[in-house]
Amino acid sequence: EALRKDAVEQATRHLVQPWPYAGSAGAEARTLIGEGDGIYITDDAGHRLIDGPAGMWCTNIGHRREEMAQVMYEQAMQLSYNTPWYTMNAPSAELARRIADHAPGDLSHVFFTTGGSSAVETALRFMQFFNNVRGRADKKLILSRGGAYHGSTYLSASLNGRPRDRDWMDGADDLVVKLSSPDPFRRPKSLSVEGFCDALVEEFRSTVERIGAERIGAFVGEPVQASGGVILPPNGYLKRIREICRANDILYVSDEVVTAFGRLGSVFASGDVFGLDPDMITFAKGVTSGYFPLGGVVISERLLEELRRSNHPDAMFAHGLTYTSHPIGCAVALKNFDILENGLLAHTREVAPYFQSQLRTLEDLPLVGEVRGLGLMACVECVADRESKDPLELDKDVGKRIDAHCQELGLLVRPLINMCVMSPPLVITRSQIDDLVSILREGIVRTMEELRKEGMWNG
Ligand code: PLP
Repeated sequence: EALRKDAVEQATRHLVQPWPYAGSAGAEARTLIGEGDGIYITDDAGHRLIDGPAGMWCTNIGHRREEMAQVMYEQAMQLSYNTPWYTMNAPSAELARRIADHAPGDLSHVFFTTGGSSAVETALRFMQFFNNVRGRADKKLILSRGGAYHGSTYLSASLNGRPRDRDWMDGADDLVVKLSSPDPFRRPKSLSVEGFCDALVEEFRSTVERIGAERIGAFVGEPVQASGGVILPPNGYLKRIREICRANDILYVSDEVVTAFGRLGSVFASGDVFGLDPDMITFAKGVTSGYFPLGGVVISERLLEELRRSNHPDAMFAHGLTYTSHPIGCAVALKNFDILENGLLAHTREVAPYFQSQLRTLEDLPLVGEVRGLGLMACVECVADRESKDPLELDKDVGKRIDAHCQELGLLVRPLINMCVMSPPLVITRSQIDDLVSILREGIVRTMEELRKEGMWNG
């Protein structure tokens, strides 16, 4: 209890939490988590919660794995750090080889970063450098979409397209062109899903034509928009966008910070799940299951070959982080890889259909507009009215209300305005899925009663 009071007091006085509101910036304590074990975390009151969002979509292998602690210890005792500027270490080379073995197409090389934002930033700076070296200095614009989340560094954040992310924030707007979110649930009423897909592809094609392919360097897209609300694009959409990019020499960057390393049952979803061969893939999170901050970009052999053969062999890609190829991070990722390959990917593929079908049973609740998802990621989207799909404008925080009830019942939810996102650790069992779904059901039922009582909803 004393420890809790200290932490709350110190945080309130000295900690700036991520994504704070101005009114509480630097003066806020959040639910204090003391420990984790498997799919569970325990809060300051000794209350055990299912870790519904797996941290931030990252604790894929679950909490408290002794082999992970062991590998950190061993690597720290062997070599805790080396400068990547003039030297290298063996774990990073081995990890790059293992990642390349699983990457689609001719993606053969890895540049390691400290997380997802720095991975996206690296892919974009690489595109700029690549086109400078090729004598195409004007080919730098970046295509991104509504509903996207790509990070919190200046350029990666400039790509973000979720409501509220950019309201009070600056961005490199002259470098980015925004397209529509491929969200079938919120498509124009007049269109079928197939018609919506055609419209999205046509928007992409006509945007390239209007701006000119000679000015567009890259498209960045998540195969499933994660933080945008687990948005699964219409069938065939990603491949059609990929073909337009290929035809126009626009680099296709598949942002797999969430979807890689098991979330959809594969190391990478781009190739295995969606049949794509991007020019670059960004990853982070699940690569170490959150045990160490690490991310990276997998880069196509063709691009590197073109650089090596260019007329500017002395041009330098002046980009690198102190912690690029961190030996402890890479050793941790190798152990995480073993765990995924020794049964956890197979387990994920096995339980995912059960997870999805059990969550879909929540669609019988009148507050629930849609349950959607793939693999072990899903979203329960609430609506005031199923006909109009009104996302509860009256009460933007319906997700937070559900989360508060669920926390009392033993489940941490990731609330997003009117949505609840679920992405539990991949080690979750069928009976734990049952627990998760029944708590979520009760949390939504209690929220419906509360909204009715307050006169905010009469569904
Ligand atoms: N890209 C995607 C798709 C993400 O979901 C995130 C984080 O949630 C990022 C990039 C940024 O990663 P990080 O927070 O590790 O910088």
